[in-house]
Parts: sequence; C-alpha cells; structure tokens
Amino acid sequence: MNTELIAVDPVRPDRSLVARAARVIRAGGLVAFPTETVYGLGADGLNPEAVQRLFVAKGRPQDNPLILHVASPEGAWALVDPEASGAMQERAAGLVARFWPGPLTLVVPAAEHVPRAVTAGLDTVAVRMPDHAVALALIEEAGCPLAGPSANVSGRPSPTTADHVLEDLGGRIEMILDAGPTGVGVESTVLDLTHWPPVILRPGGVTAEMLAAVVGEVREPAPGELGRGPAPSPGTKYRHYAPRVPLLLAAELPPAGLARLLEEGRRQEAAGRRVGVLVADEEAPLIPASWAVSTVGGRQRPREVAARLFGAMRELERAGVDVILALPYAEEGLGRAIMNRLRKASSGSL
Ligand code: AMP
Ligand code: MG
Repeated sequence: MNTELIAVDPVRPDRSLVARAARVIRAGGLVAFPTETVYGLGADGLNPEAVQRLFVAKGRPQDNPLILHVASPEGAWALVDPEASGAMQERAAGLVARFWPGPLTLVVPAAEHVPRAVTAGLDTVAVRMPDHAVALALIEEAGCPLAGPSANVSGRPSPTTADHVLEDLGGRIEMILDAGPTGVGVESTVLDLTHWPPVILRPGGVTAEMLAAVVGEVREPAPGELGRGPAPSPGTKYRHYAPRVPLLLAAELPPAGLARLLEEGRRQEAAGRRVGVLVADEEAPLIPASWAVSTVGGRQRPREVAARLFGAMRELERAGVDVILALPYAEEGLGRAIMNRLRKASSGSL
C-alpha cells in the first residue's frame, strides 16, 4: 500500500484536504493525524472492521482497548451508557468543562452501540476531545468518533512528527496528515471514573493535582492493581515506548545518577559498543565526545522534556547506537508522566 503524506496547516487546515482524509476514514481506511499530545492512528471507531485493521497495522494486542476521539462533549455523551450513575456523570461534566479540549481521557461505562472491538470486550469506554484543529476538523468531517491509538508500531516510542509515523507505519496505512511536531509530546492522562476515588490509569499532561482540584480526590493504582486479572486498564501491562536498542535508566538523579551513567558508558564503550545518552541540557557538556548525545531541554522545564522525550529516543536509534543510557527526572507534576514513559521504555536500570 502506498501511504500518502499530506501537509496541512496546524491552525487553519485546508477543509478540502481534511475532507479527503475523512473519506478514507468513512471507507474503513486508516489515517494518521496530529493531536496536541502525539500523532494518532485514526479509524472509524464505530466500524468494527476498520478497528480490526487498526489493530493489525499497529501489531497491537487485541486486549488493549482504544481511546475514542470526539469533536465535542456532546459527541462523548453519546458514547456513555445512559444508565451511568448521576454522580459519575457530574464528575465527568466537571472535568470536561475544565480540561476539554485537552490531554485528558475519561474511562466511563460504554453505551451499547460502542463496538466491543474498541473496548477490548470491556463494558467501559475511553473518550477524549483533543486540542488540535486538524484532529477536530477530521472528526467533524468523518462524522464519527475516531479510534486513535498512538500512530506507532505497538511497543515503540510514540510519534511526535509525521516522519516518525512514516518510519513505523509507512506502507501499512492509507494516509498521514502532517501538521508538524506535536506540542505536549506525551500521551493523555487516562482517568477511570468508574471508581471512587477515580483512578489515574496513565499519568499525562493533566496532573493528579489538577484533577483533584475539580473532583476532590483521585488516586494512583495500588501496586499490582493494573495489568492483572480482570485488569481495569489492560494496556498498562505491556512494555511500551521502547526504542529498538536497550535503554538503561539511572536509578538516581544527577549528580549521583550522572556519575553512574558515565561509569556505565565507559564500560560499554570499552566492550566495543556505541553509546548514546539521553540527557538534559545541563548534563550535555559533561558527556564524552565519542558518544552520541540527544538532549531533551532544561531539567527545570518538564514541558520541554516531555515534548522532546520520544523524538530523542528515535534520534539515538537512527544514530546507530547499541545502547541508550538515560537519566531520571523529578517525579512531580508532568515529571510523573515523563518517568512513567521512561520506565516503560527501559530494559534495565543503572
Ligand atoms: P494508546 O491508545 O496507546 O494511547 O493507549 C490507550 C490507553 O488507554 C491504554 O493504556 C489503554 O489500556 C487505556 N484504555 C483504553 N480504553 C480503556 C478502558 N475501557 N478501560 C481502561 N483503560 C482503557
Ligand atoms: Mg500508544
């Protein structure tokens, strides 16, 4: 299959180009599209065959449910079981008013017409309204909610540019809408509203503190609560976001973590391996010249780190390194999402 790459303006997308992409979606095809978080792989979320194709294109395990992307809160309510409790609906309404469009996905009881291929057989559905003009225009033109997992091969770093999508899915999907690099860089926060207090299934751009300010209370999953038995979020059990080469994550922040990283890098180099490091701007000048370096911005600016994280992993892969050594970040606010992705991407610690 020839994958068509179409450049669109990120703020005022040409409606005729979007309409072309929407026709592909309505015909059951796959179109990668930009959101404010990462690029998504869009399929008609109410068409089980299109959804099936999406799982195959990504190589995604069938038991990992998909997020449905909508263009308005009304589009989301149509996907919710009308018998869902009033208290839950009120919480959802409060969160929607505060954070949509934006990087917050809500897990709610699913209406009957939501295909169980989307929810991986669960009676709940994950919904979100993205904050990106191209994504919203595509959903509106297609006239259906878009199933939209990240547009990467399952298990790989999420794509933050159209080029990353092409690298993973070129030849497997009909079209990519290229609107330049995405802003946030890490995936949406996933909040399960079917529990009290609501459970953060995946940390993201909307932090626990921001959520608690609206609904009063949220909690992190208990250790072992995710990815086991009748798991509330099956997707969380898989290794994710990983580059093709091993990524080793230092256990401690600099300076101790940096000393450990330098020591391990020298050891790897002596063994004949090409070393790549994923570090903040502050640490870059201290890295030996023979190593490949990808920086993710200032250590005190987590928004920069999140935006650069996945791209930096792919950059090091392309530089042909044999191993990636990375440093951790402070685990507060957006730092929790950053560390969640880094831990899942890593194959070991330093
Ligand atoms: P991705 O499509 O890669 O952005 O991942 C979507 C995330 O949302 C995965 O972690 C899924 O497990 C989670 N998710 C989607 N639908 C549900 C659901 N009904 N219940 C719990 N988690 C869900
Ligand atoms: Mg993903």
